[in-house]
Amino acid sequence: MILEIVKYGHPALRLPGRRVEAVDDEVRQFAADLVETMRAAEGVGLAAPQVGRALQVFVIDVSGVKERPSTLEIDGQSVDPASRMPMVLINPELTPTGEWENGAEGCLSFPEIYGEISRPASVEVKALNEHGQTVSFRCGGLLSRAIQHEQDHLRGILFIDRMTDHVARAAPEGAGPVDGGDDQGA
Ligand SMILES: [Zn+2]
Repeated sequence: MILEIVKYGHPALRLPGRRVEAVDDEVRQFAADLVETMRAAEGVGLAAPQVGRALQVFVIDVSGVKERPSTLEIDGQSVDPASRMPMVLINPELTPTGEWENGAEGCLSFPEIYGEISRPASVEVKALNEHGQTVSFRCGGLLSRAIQHEQDHLRGILFIDRMTDHVARAAPEGAGPVDGGDDQGA
């Protein structure tokens, strides 16, 4: 089921998400709805607060973005990120590990606004998946940026809070929707 994405100004975007106590069928269905909604909006990520739910759940799919690569390491082994998409991350904990770098971001809750955001280039992630299993991995590139963008949503933090140039730029002509990526929204 495609859910309604709330836009900037909606109070849900500022509410911190509650931890998920049990990954049950209701949570799995919600995560599946998030994935369907993200894909319909052509985003690379979508967090529960963006559909009005104050829960620590977000979904990611960077597999359609070829021009901004991602890296993924599981147990020290490089893994093709596309093979793990879409990702459902529940109660995620992030540990930034890389140098900070600038990158363009958009957000599905801010149509037509893009900004230059500085974030750590890579991050270690520990979370539950949709089966309630603990997953941990390290990632870089667009995947790292998208995950950090979505993690912010779970704390009521929005990308406009982090814009280094403090100037929201209009989307270039013909740019696609965003959430987490360059010309992608999250
Ligand atoms: Zn966003």
